[in-house]
Amino acid sequence: MKKPVFNFSPGPAMLPAEVMLQAQNEFLNFQGTGMSIMEVSHRSAIFQQVIDKAEADLRKLMSIPSDYKVLFLQGGASTQFAMIPLNLMRKGKAVFLDTGAWSQKAIAEASKYGQTHIVASSKDSNFSYVPSFEKEEIDQEADYLHLTQNNTIFGTRIHSLPVSGKVPLVSDMSSMLLSEEVRVEDYGLIYAGAQKNIGPSGLTIVILREDLIGYAQYSCPKMLNYQTHVDKASMFNTPPTFPIYMTGLVFAWTLKEGGVKAMEEKNMAKSSLLYEYLDQSDFYRPDIASPHRSRMNVCFHTPSPELDIALAKFADEEGCKFIKGHRSVGGIRASLYNAMSIEGVAYLIEILKQFKRRA
Ligand code: PMP
Repeated sequence: MKKPVFNFSPGPAMLPAEVMLQAQNEFLNFQGTGMSIMEVSHRSAIFQQVIDKAEADLRKLMSIPSDYKVLFLQGGASTQFAMIPLNLMRKGKAVFLDTGAWSQKAIAEASKYGQTHIVASSKDSNFSYVPSFEKEEIDQEADYLHLTQNNTIFGTRIHSLPVSGKVPLVSDMSSMLLSEEVRVEDYGLIYAGAQKNIGPSGLTIVILREDLIGYAQYSCPKMLNYQTHVDKASMFNTPPTFPIYMTGLVFAWTLKEGGVKAMEEKNMAKSSLLYEYLDQSDFYRPDIASPHRSRMNVCFHTPSPELDIALAKFADEEGCKFIKGHRSVGGIRASLYNAMSIEGVAYLIEILKQFKRRA
């Protein structure tokens, strides 16, 4: 019998099969035009309709208020590590919560453009928790407070937003956008690389409050100035048309499936199922304690590095793909983004049980 394939990749990650089929069906002939959406000009009415619908659906999914702009950019979340300080550091200082490798990359880039202050860090325990801090610890003169809301590598998640006073929150939601409800009005800026929860790689989503736009540093390259992209509605230059189209299909699918609330419920059910199995096991050891756990990236270890490697290999052969942990952490990581079904998680648990019996 043919084995099922479930893709637990941390990113680029699995997309809904329905979306892939739709893209396949209209690949050569997009809506009767006789052309692929990949082949048409970004200035054409055909593409304009695609990007407009993608934005409208994202606004609906996240209830984005009218004083926030939505941008479809390139360069990945990594470009935002520089773009954010270049545009938002008006007074020249920003505050960071250090929860791992991605936070540190954001800090390193921002340090080139102004002062950076780390309000709290979990480096002391290899980022196995999300440290807390008080509002009083945040310099109210800072331009923003930067958070990595889900830490893809370590498997932690910020479960309650810090109170930052009048300092705008900037959140890297690369590995959790649309996986749970957030109040956009709590943030100054939200950004995410598309390739985990919402589409293929090559597209970066930025959602930012209007009053933060227009203050880029003089030396800021035009392509890195939010104002440039706001003025041209993400069409200053050629945008990543095919990833925008694919992401638009995922937005429409997410709406059809019941929206972000439905995704959140499904994600809670999937991650609880896996954590509950790991917690009761005398063989597997979850890396992260309960209140700090990611619902997207479940990280754990077997009793030894050799067994971790053997498990990743066995799981791969049995159809559970890409569960090897990040090289800086080791162990196992199963990524359970929106497109992963509860059946996929149940199957993974079955494979974990089989491996334990054999080990
Ligand atoms: N932030 C987080 C939380 C990530 O998981 C990643 C990618 N794994 C990045 C930033 C970097 O994203 P990109 O590759 O799109 O630059």
